[in-house]
Amino acid sequence: MNVYDAARMSDVLAPLGYRHVETPQDADLVILNTCHIREKAAEKVYSELGRLRDLKQDRAEGKAPMMIGVAGCVAQAEGAEMVRRAPYVDLVFGPQTYHRLPEMVARATRETSGLSGAGRGIIDTNFPVEQKFDFLPEAASQGPSAFLTIQEGCDRFCAFCVVPYTRGAEYSRPVAEVLAEARQLVCGGAREITLLGQNVNAYHGESPSGGEWRLAALVAELAGIAGLERIRYTTSHPRDMTRDLITAHGEIDTLMPYLHLPVQSGSDDILRAMNRQHTAHDYLNIIDGLRAARPDIALSSDFIVGHPGETDADFEATMGLIRKVGYAQAYSFKYSPRPGTPAAAMEDAVPEDVKSERLARLQSLINEQQVLFNETFVGRTIPVLLDRLGRSDTQRAGRSPWMHSVHVDFDTLAAATRAFGRTVELQILSAHPNSLAATPVWDAGATLQEPATV
Ligand code: SAH
Ligand code: SF4
Repeated sequence: MNVYDAARMSDVLAPLGYRHVETPQDADLVILNTCHIREKAAEKVYSELGRLRDLKQDRAEGKAPMMIGVAGCVAQAEGAEMVRRAPYVDLVFGPQTYHRLPEMVARATRETSGLSGAGRGIIDTNFPVEQKFDFLPEAASQGPSAFLTIQEGCDRFCAFCVVPYTRGAEYSRPVAEVLAEARQLVCGGAREITLLGQNVNAYHGESPSGGEWRLAALVAELAGIAGLERIRYTTSHPRDMTRDLITAHGEIDTLMPYLHLPVQSGSDDILRAMNRQHTAHDYLNIIDGLRAARPDIALSSDFIVGHPGETDADFEATMGLIRKVGYAQAYSFKYSPRPGTPAAAMEDAVPEDVKSERLARLQSLINEQQVLFNETFVGRTIPVLLDRLGRSDTQRAGRSPWMHSVHVDFDTLAAATRAFGRTVELQILSAHPNSLAATPVWDAGATLQEPATV
């Protein structure tokens, strides 16, 4: 979501004459868009700010002073404390306020004096009543694969999680607004759209005819947009995995056969302590339902090891669940206490070395599963949306329907250029832990040597 938010900040700043530059040295305005989910992510911000302070000081005479902004959830959580610790920061603004960025930049420009550029530090961490989406300009093109935020914030209050405090209460964008932005993105070249939300399947946006639509209805409507070949959504909560959404996976071809459905733990006691409001059995039932609807669906999850109170037996229950499900990939983290969350006040903290040992075991099991999953694709021909340049002139990279990262080498630069931005049939030559290597399948009917497209 921070990638999406950064793109929208660019959209809102473009009318002021701002454009992207490649290095911070060349920038009149540097914005760090930050994440507060774990302590490590939050800490990085201050070390990065230290580097920017030096750049701001080094800026050559005659140039406008560099302005530094901090956006996102660390800004939200730190507020005035950030300006106290880093007085050279000009703007501190939370994730719900960036539609007011032009106004903040104008104020900071007025108030910033001299080349030292020390302003007074403008802080905006409100949760405004007006929705930022109502004030943002049309979304600019993001290329073949685009993000679209449909839902933000969270009301679930998992014990370990800071999101409800930093992103705020749950909000779903109206259906008409989402459809308009999706069409805009497709006109700008998107063939794939990933719908985003902190708890995306809690979506319940106002429908064009009054009432509300859940995510399944929204996805069905989006599937009708000509030229939109792929739809994905992330991140979902098992409790919001409704029957109609599970069924949609079997009925909507453009809904990709890959789902990130975090379970966090396989132990019912820990799930209860986490306030996840479901059991391991409930989760496995959902997985069964998804596989019945779409047998080739690939699954991914997030895991937290070492949540307060996690015993060896709890951890083994998580390992057991992983073995039962068989994941295509997963993200796993050591529990990190977040100030203000209920879990941070819980007793029975798990020692750091135990967390590390559990994390290593869990990750090695996931890696084994990932390698096995990837190997089943060797020799198969699969459609890949090529949306990235590769390591050489003639290499391109993209994603399979199952979210593999796939690299392909073309014979010529012309063939690579023609294939770029399209969904191309590729034959998988070999599997690596984090990617697949492929070769083009040539379209026999074409006059030119055209890669077969879907
Ligand atoms: N809404 C999603 C998760 C969003 S946060 C869900 O309900 O699953 C992304 C991931 O960060 C979480 O799934 C969790 O695994 C991890 N995470 C969140 N808070 C954490 C914490 N305090 N310590 C370690 N990992 C955490
Ligand atoms: Fe955090 Fe996800 Fe739980 Fe919401 S549902 S509190 S975002 S972990």
